[in-house]
Amino acid sequence: MAKVYTEKRVQEYDGTYGKCQMSGETIKNCPLGLDLKAMLGLIADGDLHSALARLRDKVPFPGITGSMCVAPCSRFFSRHTPLICEFERFLYEYELMQFGRPQYQLKKGRVTARTAAIVGAGPSGLLCAHDLAVSGHHVEVFDREPKPGGMLDRAISPERLPRHILFTEMDIFRRLDIRFNFGVEIGRDIELRDLRKDFDALYIAIGAYDFHNIYEKRLDCDNCADIFTFLDNINLYKRRYDHFTVLGSDNSAFHLAIRLSDEGKKVTILTSKPVSEMNVSQVQLDKAVKGRIELLFLHSVENILISGGVMTGIELRRMPSSKTTSAILEDSLFRHETDFLVITKGRRATMLEGLRMNSLGFVDTDEYLRTNADGVYAGGDAVDPDTDFLSAMTDGRTAASNIDSYLIGGQSYKKREKTIRLSPGLDNNIPRRSSFKDISEVIDAAAKILGSEKRYLL
Ligand code: SF4
Repeated sequence: MAKVYTEKRVQEYDGTYGKCQMSGETIKNCPLGLDLKAMLGLIADGDLHSALARLRDKVPFPGITGSMCVAPCSRFFSRHTPLICEFERFLYEYELMQFGRPQYQLKKGRVTARTAAIVGAGPSGLLCAHDLAVSGHHVEVFDREPKPGGMLDRAISPERLPRHILFTEMDIFRRLDIRFNFGVEIGRDIELRDLRKDFDALYIAIGAYDFHNIYEKRLDCDNCADIFTFLDNINLYKRRYDHFTVLGSDNSAFHLAIRLSDEGKKVTILTSKPVSEMNVSQVQLDKAVKGRIELLFLHSVENILISGGVMTGIELRRMPSSKTTSAILEDSLFRHETDFLVITKGRRATMLEGLRMNSLGFVDTDEYLRTNADGVYAGGDAVDPDTDFLSAMTDGRTAASNIDSYLIGGQSYKKREKTIRLSPGLDNNIPRRSSFKDISEVIDAAAKILGSEKRYLL
């Protein structure tokens, strides 16, 4: 189970360099390996070009991470200190202002004759493609959608991630000679075994887009939808309905709830899990108390009431704890009224011929992200539905490193990183854009962090 680092835990941080008091776990600044001290030092010196180069070297899409990353690297900074993602977003905007497009200096140390195919153009697949191309391999990306982004494009609101950023950042792939094959679905247009014949290695980052109804009843009503149907028609539903209930507590459930709440809708998150097992922060709980997002945890769905093709309510039962789901609380059955039910429970990865799936319906991998098929790696949502944005990127990087070793016959393989997972609820704390007004502000802020927060900079 993912650890939940709530604000409370942050407060309980004992100040020991790189250690969390509660878990004893070593805190890593950036799972993607950005050297924060070096980048901030260059910014503090006013050398923004070198800072950008340093940033793009490890974090090749700072416009995207600057908008999306919950910045675990900055979790222990004092409350009023800008987060590192704000510097990333500022540098991205500064570069665009100066040059009109990302200036990416490709540093290929070698060019190999080895080839790799990436299946899925979400954040995990894109970072893997980037790293393998930088390692000198020929890379092609396949995606069934007509454009890149994956869940970033489908699930994240344009307010949070303006689409022009997503597409501007794609510019760097042109310089890497990566070929994109959009509108190509594996299993429909091309078989995995054919890809395996054509390429020396594969990375499967297909997300978890299949959905199976976990309820006995068919949910064919106008105001119930699984998350993917909902996302495809979100504007229509937003126009028609005001109160949405999101059933599930994985990352996609929270992203959707936050998005709808941001857009002025009443939202309820409904889950049978207790808070301690949810990816929820104290911040999110506070919001729940204030009534913006209602959190009904430890509630089991007894019945979804449908009449004349319309969902009229949900019968819920309060549970004493997740360990005793069979226990029944006296008088705990009640009816929850809502306009629309979105179901995120039941997501799984599309089964691909030749790949072993686990019992939950996700691609089975070992700790090195290797699947049962030789040379085929997998990561992101396809292996774990609770993968957040940063963990998906980290998987892409780990897979690229291991695929590189596999391709060149190297011996060093990296284990899947257990990144410090922050609750998606913390997303709401992240400024939507950098709060810096001008270059002098960003320079001052970097110098301040180097002075006051240096114990947290590894
Ligand atoms: S953790 Fe996120 S915000 Fe921090 S340096 Fe890494 S990518 Fe940037």
